[in-house]
Amino acid sequence: MTRSNFLIWIGLRQSVPLKLRVNIPNFNFASLKCHDYYYFLIKQKLEKPSKWVKLKKEFSLDDKQVSEAFLLPVKVANEPYLRCFQYKVFNSVLFANDRLCKIRYVSNLNCTFCHQLTETISHILFGCSFSNSFWHEVNKKILSKIKSCRSLSLTYGNAIVGSFEEEMDLFNYIVILGKSFFWTC
Ligand SMILES: [Zn+2]
Repeated sequence: MTRSNFLIWIGLRQSVPLKLRVNIPNFNFASLKCHDYYYFLIKQKLEKPSKWVKLKKEFSLDDKQVSEAFLLPVKVANEPYLRCFQYKVFNSVLFANDRLCKIRYVSNLNCTFCHQLTETISHILFGCSFSNSFWHEVNKKILSKIKSCRSLSLTYGNAIVGSFEEEMDLFNYIVILGKSFFWTC
């Protein structure tokens, strides 16, 4: 820094967080640019969502795909309530009867629709015979009429996480909209 003095240098030094003043990794300061320092600083703050590992395991995804999945709602849906709903699905913060029964909010943990099996998030959104016929109708009346969606079958993974294939934004939007509708109906 040209035309600088002691106070400027001290100010600059004080602006660096304490924990970074020691043990800075092997940085080659001469070759790094501002954005490299920025990425280093935000890397210390980045925390993965708590359900990251569960999603990876349940749907056999790699880190890149889980990251894509978390970006999908923002990419395909403009409506805040739909984005919010999809993040609730990802983070397992929807309360189906299995959980409501645990906190004694409801007395019966069976599914609201079929009344036969335990109502979990995955059951109500995909496993239930009622949601199955709902998805069948969505597939028949909407998805089969959209050129880019025709080749894709609606699996459990597609319905919960979304599809990462090219040009599937509309498919992913319809699936989020369908889940939200089925959950609130
Ligand atoms: Zn059911």
